[in-house]
Amino acid sequence: MSTSSTPSTRDLVPEALDAVPTGLLIGGEWRDASDGGTFAVENPATETELVRVASATADDARAAMDAAAAAQDSWGATSARERAEILRRGFDLVQEHAETLATVMTLEMGKPLAESRGEVTYGGEFVRWFAEQATQDVGRYTHTPEGSLRMFVQRRPVGPSFLITPWNFPLAMATRKVAPALAAGCTTILKPARLTPLTSMLFARLMVEAGVPDGVLNVVPSRSASTVSEPILADPRLRKLSFTGSTAVGQSLLRDAATNVLRTSMELGGNAPLVVFEDADLDAAVDGALAAKLRNGGEACTAANRMYVHEDVADAFVDRLAQKLRDVVVGNGLDDGVTLGPLIEPSAVDSVQAFVDDAVERGATLVVGGDRPDGTGHFFSPTLLRDVPPDARCMREEIFGPVAPVATFSSEDEAVALANSTEYGLASYVFTRDVPRGLRFAERLEFGLLGLNAGVISNAAAPFGGMKQSGIGREGGFEGIAEYQETQYVGMPLT
Ligand code: NAD
Repeated sequence: MSTSSTPSTRDLVPEALDAVPTGLLIGGEWRDASDGGTFAVENPATETELVRVASATADDARAAMDAAAAAQDSWGATSARERAEILRRGFDLVQEHAETLATVMTLEMGKPLAESRGEVTYGGEFVRWFAEQATQDVGRYTHTPEGSLRMFVQRRPVGPSFLITPWNFPLAMATRKVAPALAAGCTTILKPARLTPLTSMLFARLMVEAGVPDGVLNVVPSRSASTVSEPILADPRLRKLSFTGSTAVGQSLLRDAATNVLRTSMELGGNAPLVVFEDADLDAAVDGALAAKLRNGGEACTAANRMYVHEDVADAFVDRLAQKLRDVVVGNGLDDGVTLGPLIEPSAVDSVQAFVDDAVERGATLVVGGDRPDGTGHFFSPTLLRDVPPDARCMREEIFGPVAPVATFSSEDEAVALANSTEYGLASYVFTRDVPRGLRFAERLEFGLLGLNAGVISNAAAPFGGMKQSGIGREGGFEGIAEYQETQYVGMPLT
């Protein structure tokens, strides 16, 4: 309960927004767009404008590219220890400002405050992890097999990197790219999503306070993504593109990146299966399904998109999941007790409704929800569908909303075939008490991530990324920093 001496989170809102810079960060200065343009950032729960942000033009994008290119040599030449210490200070500042970051995140993205706090913890961990990784560089000195040369193999920063992030995890998607890039010695241009730039801009402010030198981190929000991306991608000084977003946009950026043969990391869409075997701990499976479905309101690339439940336990699973979904409290993420916030924008609500209507038209049974609550905000009710046929759109495409479609299977082979029946390969989940079966299943799955008896497995120390059309490369883990490093070999005779 709040008292006059402990302000409620709503009381903190203006203060939180005051902390957010609203200009472009170019060459260490926060500045207006070259044409003075701005765009509005809205609260999806209240449909009100929060603040206006400078909208980068093509000239601003070129200026950011100039700044990143100019800073590359000196930043690449800093010691790993110096980069690590700046990142470590950045981590400390994220902790210090955790409540402000979380409040801003809920305001612009809508997720419940508890989840925003969780994202600050998760997102901050990338800054700490890559501070630790910065000094762990491995090279090698050895002989060629026939002994004619000595070999030196060393890692070097790739160079100026363009980082494009989506709206659904406004802090973590930025830290997952900025931190390894800086740790490796690359300068960066960050383009946050138009719908949620504020958390990233606040994070950038904290990184500047932590000591990131001018030009090493540039931030260019814009109302038009391509206005910013085209001049940057066309610039021969750019070395690396790291993108998180939809597969369609990723494919188009890959084509653009081919012109200058850029190094690319692509974290794209998903269509995660969640498989429940007949021997599973059903309570754990239901809890895992709820977490994998409703984390971030279902607006996550890792969200369980399709649930396949063994026919012997399907009725019990559906009954228990239905009860949990009926208990979900939908509302403004700043309000106490709310467990599901709004979707990001009106078109997202229309899209989710269309998935539900399509499934029902094709013969699925609606068990819970299925519609949008009345009133202000882009809300959609938690929804459970059962007996969903394989040709329903929600089984083939990313739903990105709080809709759980359930279908049944009868054998392990059938479960593997169903799980793999998608062009995506990001996250997957399986629930079974039979550990060898779980591991056998893992080896047959074409997914970069598997939660074995767990609905949420993301961690800064783990390699995150997809197979097939879910992407290229890995973020986090030891693998994350390698995405921003070139390998160079020096051969030398001793004569
Ligand atoms: P999106 O592809 O629409 O946008 C992602 C980013 O790309 C935004 O910053 C956007 O402004 C920018 N963008 C859009 N068009 C562009 C263009 N032509 N040139 C340059 N930049 C452009 O995706 P979204 O709606 O913001 O995010 C949701 C998608 O992201 C989902 O498909 C989800 O699965 C995916 N995602 C993937 C991961 C992962 O790690 N694999 C994580 C989060 C989200």
